[in-house]
Amino acid sequence: MNDQNSNSLSASLMQGQEQADAHQQDVSRDLKRQSKEGYSATDDEPQKHDGNLCEHDDGIHIKPLLKDVGETLTSEDIEQHKHWMKHALMLADKAESIGEVPVGACVVLNGELIGEGYNTPITDNDPSAHAELLAVKEAALRVQNYRLIDATLYVTLEPCSMCAGMLVHARVKRVVFGAKDAKTGAAGSVMNLLQHPALNHQVEIVSGILADDCANKLSDFFRKRRKEIKAAKKAKKLIESGESD
Ligand SMILES: [Zn+2]
Repeated sequence: MNDQNSNSLSASLMQGQEQADAHQQDVSRDLKRQSKEGYSATDDEPQKHDGNLCEHDDGIHIKPLLKDVGETLTSEDIEQHKHWMKHALMLADKAESIGEVPVGACVVLNGELIGEGYNTPITDNDPSAHAELLAVKEAALRVQNYRLIDATLYVTLEPCSMCAGMLVHARVKRVVFGAKDAKTGAAGSVMNLLQHPALNHQVEIVSGILADDCANKLSDFFRKRRKEIKAAKKAKKLIESGESD
């Protein structure tokens, strides 16, 4: 690669990184705001029951399939969801330990864990290496079937459009997520791809399970990272001023 090409490549890579950082800051800001607001569903207006949303006392929301209007969660369901969300949170920690945005996911079928994943796009130079995608791939391999009918995917952050599309392809029965993503969430925040009426499969959505734990993990991560970036900039300035002396 000649110098000009490599310069323009590194310039565009830097631009991409800046855009990614800007988005992550946005997510962090939104998460903070949502956390303060106690995760009242933004578009859903749970107070005004729209016939397709049931609200539970603890801020947990269920969006059943259109045909299941009125379905509610039992306290047993909520305990189950919390149990598996804790597992997804543990997987998010693994992502954080390798410098990735802490998002974790797992797939459960008939009460059994069949797939796990956590974010690794930076580590693997793979923009598709999202927690949900990796968890579903492992689950499909495990059951030797590209369809995961009756399976539930647990993820700490609302799925993006790529993952939501994949979850429809996989025909998962239910998606349970923790924190909402107001910028890229495709399970109701920006769009609801999981229940798009034009698609041939709709997925039940349960949101708000351990939402504060999931959101705090992300905002703590971004806060820490901003501090590190600031410290690195300061150190660089100090070195540069030392060199000019
Ligand atoms: Zn995704």
